[in-house]
Amino acid sequence: MSQALAEIKHRIAAAEARAGRPAGSVTLVAVSKTQPWEHIAPVFAAGQKVFGENRVQEAMERWAPRREGLELRLIGPLQTNKAREAVAFFDVVETVDREKLARVLADEIQRAGKAPRLYIQVNVGEEAQKAGIAPGEADAFVAACRATYGLTVEGLMCIPPVDQDPAPHFALLREIAQRNGVEKLSMGMSDDFETAIAQGATSVRVGSAIFGNRTYG
Ligand SMILES: *Cc1c(COP(=O)(O)O)cnc(C)c1O
Repeated sequence: MSQALAEIKHRIAAAEARAGRPAGSVTLVAVSKTQPWEHIAPVFAAGQKVFGENRVQEAMERWAPRREGLELRLIGPLQTNKAREAVAFFDVVETVDREKLARVLADEIQRAGKAPRLYIQVNVGEEAQKAGIAPGEADAFVAACRATYGLTVEGLMCIPPVDQDPAPHFALLREIAQRNGVEKLSMGMSDDFETAIAQGATSVRVGSAIFGNRTYG
């Protein structure tokens, strides 16, 4: 049994209760990117089924042999030349952030006859080095994903600036989702998932607090 996993689940439950939200309303996405298997094995053995990965290739190497019964989420930037593999392999792609990618994903979904659940990444802090659609362009982008590309937008995702209070950034993502009729919010990581739950997160992406520090990525 993974002590760290149990601890995070306990903290999620407490945060749900504090926010007056139903128990189990927040999905824990265990971010396994770059971790050696010996860090992941106890979490996997403890029954964790939802994992987040940053890279298509790395995710396939890690998870293809034990894919059955898991929910795998792509939470890192997606290049259009990897869209076919991503559609084939992932249950959820959280990083739709530009028209070209929306168009290629729509084509690949058509071709494959199956669609991953899709989230739009919003660059809530408008940081130059971060992926995501600008908050001011989000409404138009959600509309284009739906009307132009025929995509179903399940949720929005964000990564707030590291050096700022994340709460207003989470609140901004929630407001964008609400006014566009988007249901799910992927927000909150190891250092701020409780704040995210208070702001309405429906899934949190927790890596190092479960698996230990990464050496890279
Ligand atoms: C790495 C990563 C996480 C997990 O970060 P931790 O701080 O280790 O919890 C969450 N979301 C995204 C998009 C990431 O790239």
